[in-house]
Amino acid sequence: MKEATAADVAKLALGDINFDPDALRAKYLEERDKRLRDDANEQYIEVEGDFSNYVDDPYEAKVEREPLNDTVEIVIIGGGFGGLLLGGRLREAGFDDIRVIEKGGDFGGTWYWNRYPGAMCDVESYCYLPMLEELDYIPKHKYSFAPEIMAHTQNIAKHYGLYDNACLSTEVTDLAWDESEQYWIVTTNRGDRMRARYVAMANGPLNRPKLPGIPGISDYKGHTFHTSRWDYDYTGGSSEGGLTGLADKRVAVIGTGATAVQCIPHVGEAAEALFVFQRTPSSIDVRDNRATDPDWAASLPQGWQRDRMENFNALTSGRVIEEDLVMDGWTEIIRNLISMANYRGKNLSGEEVARLMELADFEKMEQIRARVDAIVEDPSTAEALKPYYRQFCKRPCFHDTYLPTFNRSNVKLVDTEGKGVTAITATSVIANGEEYPVDCIIFATGFEVGTGFSRRAGYDVEGKDGVRLSQKWSDGIQTLHGLHSHGFPNLLIMSNAQSAFTTNFPHAMDENARHMAYLLDTCRDRSIKQFEADLDAEQAWVQEIIGLSRFSEAFQSECTPGYYNNEGQPNPLSKQNASYGKGPIAFFDRMRAWREQGELTGLNCR
Ligand code: NDP
Repeated sequence: MKEATAADVAKLALGDINFDPDALRAKYLEERDKRLRDDANEQYIEVEGDFSNYVDDPYEAKVEREPLNDTVEIVIIGGGFGGLLLGGRLREAGFDDIRVIEKGGDFGGTWYWNRYPGAMCDVESYCYLPMLEELDYIPKHKYSFAPEIMAHTQNIAKHYGLYDNACLSTEVTDLAWDESEQYWIVTTNRGDRMRARYVAMANGPLNRPKLPGIPGISDYKGHTFHTSRWDYDYTGGSSEGGLTGLADKRVAVIGTGATAVQCIPHVGEAAEALFVFQRTPSSIDVRDNRATDPDWAASLPQGWQRDRMENFNALTSGRVIEEDLVMDGWTEIIRNLISMANYRGKNLSGEEVARLMELADFEKMEQIRARVDAIVEDPSTAEALKPYYRQFCKRPCFHDTYLPTFNRSNVKLVDTEGKGVTAITATSVIANGEEYPVDCIIFATGFEVGTGFSRRAGYDVEGKDGVRLSQKWSDGIQTLHGLHSHGFPNLLIMSNAQSAFTTNFPHAMDENARHMAYLLDTCRDRSIKQFEADLDAEQAWVQEIIGLSRFSEAFQSECTPGYYNNEGQPNPLSKQNASYGKGPIAFFDRMRAWREQGELTGLNCR
């Protein structure tokens, strides 16, 4: 992989390019326009009532237990990476009285739910799986498959004793601050009513599956499920494939996002017939997964994982550094874009730099489109699989068997020209005016993003004076450092909003977990019973976030619709709900300096 040199940049700047930027720009807008729709986020239906079977836990039987009415020091809501990292860092700081409450029947979060065939991480496993050195574990491949990641999450829970006192298969239904007792009251769907001095919310950003509001969706009489609740009883096989139950089935997959890209090769291999209903194609770059070299693993010095995570984070957040330890599609894309942005040889204006970045993006997407032509044999199928938008309008995908699946005679791409499936009947899926009778519909239609906090979390938070977090945040998120909110004492928020955003998600969560552990440790040392974000400090932080926001309304509104741009209607609150605009490294440095200063600045403590 070669870094774009100044000469490459100059070549682009001088116009030595084999595409027409104006024509591409026009084509991108034309493709976006086909997909814009007035109902934006409203096109999706909430998975509840008649649809709630789509979110039931198909993996673990709920173990009956008596409701709890007790007191713990720390409740962590969520047993995914956020909750596990926090639990682990708190244990390291000597906290014993911790209870994790988790909706799933075990730890794992997104990796508990997403067991679909082919599921794997798309950030290098040596960076993505946290606490590898703590657990003395090396992943089997450069990109780990889901079962290994889920096992790792459970090993973290075992290593740190987080199963002790955990409440699994338990959903928090309400969280309320009791000012007289100075405790949080946590209520759950198992009849629990617990008191906790501290509560940490680690619900995860993409946890609530969504379904498209396609007319007739509830009339369908065949078999159906969402990818995040894969029904292996029906399909047979496992996360590794071998879906023998589909051998005599005509199957529809609706959606072609990152999830669909990973599961479609297995469904295509097994089903009698597979119809892939596509609204917008994903960009599919090379994966090149490989087994871990044991000699390399044995050579790793102490502290290697932190170094590697920091190197990946530096590259993907735009630092110009020589060394690239990961060398994959993520670091390549971002390195190329950044070298455009940093090209100063011609004293370029901001607008010229933006134009160079656009050219680099066009060039990358031309490569992605050429890859489709090189792999997919049928020219019209190949054309339909080509993405026409800026690469970061949607999650870039990396896969080596997705595109070849469309060369199989039993697999048909039903491209809907941006319109999506128009109806579902008792027996069929309807698109482009044609009816496709199928035995099974698999919804690979993603997760709620643009809906309100309490709807996605499944509970609201009542702070001091009965103020609810959903009310307080109805005009935008308000926090100090993304971690605390005034009026909600002793509450910790694990999120990337107004905090750090990293391509390698667990990295930012680990930094936040260490910060939270420091805070609770300091409170214990100084006999502080209550901390709360100071209102002035919080307002200053919110203004700083808005001021630094890199959210570009122009970029977002030119993007094809998706959850990154609020389905084509960029949210006016995006600047406020953004992550820290100077990037994750600056955020981590700032939080480290805050800890070193030791004054708990911006928190009122008593
Ligand atoms: P997405 O939201 O990315 O994709 C949903 C898909 O459903 C889109 O292709 C969408 O089309 C399509 N869709 C929605 N409504 C209709 C309709 N009416 N007719 C036809 N198609 C429709 O969800 P995913 O689950 O794929 O991915 C969500 C996120 O999860 C990713 O962005 C990524 O962050 C994460 N992920 C990460 C993975 C990893 O490897 N680490 C793997 C999988 C997921 P359209 O694009 O037109 O809206």
